[in-house]
Amino acid sequence: MKIGVLAVQGAFREHEQMLQNLGAQTVYVKKKEHLEGLDGIVIPGGESTAIGRLMREYDLIAPIREMAANGIPMMGTCAGMIVLAKRIANGDEPHLAVMDVEVDRNSFGRQRESFETDLDIPAIGEAPFPAVFIRAPHIRDVGPDVTVLAKYENRVVGVQQGHLLAFSFHPELTADDRIHRYFLQLVEARTKQPAG
Ligand code: GLN
Repeated sequence: MKIGVLAVQGAFREHEQMLQNLGAQTVYVKKKEHLEGLDGIVIPGGESTAIGRLMREYDLIAPIREMAANGIPMMGTCAGMIVLAKRIANGDEPHLAVMDVEVDRNSFGRQRESFETDLDIPAIGEAPFPAVFIRAPHIRDVGPDVTVLAKYENRVVGVQQGHLLAFSFHPELTADDRIHRYFLQLVEARTKQPAG
């Protein structure tokens, strides 16, 4: 499995490490040539405005959008979730605009710039997941094809829309690799499908 990790800005090294530890081959995506032959893409946390601007500058928006339309699994974490969303609450221009959700940036207030909490995420197993939130967004609204995977204090913080996953927090910053495993299962399921 060859997974691209968008590496224009933000926390991409930790994703790379975790994916490699799970046996995936990884490629840093900085130019559209790097998208060739990828089975999945991870969009890391960082600063969504900067990530979006650089993706436009490097002509990455249209090809990645097309890959999403072709069923290539993608996972966005924190800023990466904002990059995947079709709607951004404060009026920012959407970036990839492939997931039918509305996100609110910086939802958890200044006094809670970052915190860690245990979340129930039944899709990945029974044990709670240690979620690290850093100036995290949350999801205000989801479309009919979107499944809620996780909530924190009644706010949606994890979603799935078929082959697309998005989380408000940073699963790459903890030792628990179940979210990355879950993503790689989506990738594997797709690569096993007969072509055509
Ligand atoms: N608040 C940031 C943004 O809007 C995301 C923070 C993060 O990725 N840790 O882009």
